[in-house]
Amino acid sequence: MEAKICSICKLEIHQKYCGNCGQQIGESETTMLSIVSDFFSNLLSVEKSVFACIYKLFTDPKKIVENYWNGNRKYYPSPGKMLFYSFAVAALHLTYVSDSLMGLVMEDGDMSGIGPQFVFWLIILPILILSSYLTFIRKKISITKHLISIMYLGATFFMLVIILQDVIEYFFPNTVKGGSFVIFFMTVFILNAKVFSPAGNKAKVALNTLLSILILSLIGIVLLGILYLFNLIHFN
Ligand SMILES: [Zn+2]
Repeated sequence: MEAKICSICKLEIHQKYCGNCGQQIGESETTMLSIVSDFFSNLLSVEKSVFACIYKLFTDPKKIVENYWNGNRKYYPSPGKMLFYSFAVAALHLTYVSDSLMGLVMEDGDMSGIGPQFVFWLIILPILILSSYLTFIRKKISITKHLISIMYLGATFFMLVIILQDVIEYFFPNTVKGGSFVIFFMTVFILNAKVFSPAGNKAKVALNTLLSILILSLIGIVLLGILYLFNLIHFN
């Protein structure tokens, strides 16, 4: 291939992409057909990387978390991107399907609607990060790594459980109630335990899953106690 000049960086290019800015260097002028094929291949490549990420989170969550932790980008979607997708799915669900997420409705109806539901799920995320950090506190792993793991797992399974619940509800109405809540927490805890436990050690994964459930419960009790002390909630 003869050398070309990058239109952005003015550097000489010998490959398909500019090594400085990453833009693909054109070999021919743009046709109508190439605009259409570009549109569809972009659409498909977004989905392909999201599906690849979801599959990998199920089979080898450690790999995804380590990859992002080590600063590698663009092959798998970032945790922020997965969080963005999960918010989009949640917003669609709240607008068109039901006013509760994962069947979470409070007695007096205060928690229904888009605003309170989103706030609740935004509070759950830091609580999950804290319980992950406390579960593995002896390993002295940076809280940033726990944040990456929980953001990936929390966002992805939040999204998947909402979609799965809507599909099941559509075909078999009124079958799933509180179950999706439990499935979400169990999946996140088991896979998060896989991220921070020695590879292939099933006993350690099971033990750490139980430990993180226990720690989450303790954090929950402490939070409820604080809310109760400040008269923000009351028990009947
Ligand atoms: Zn360039």
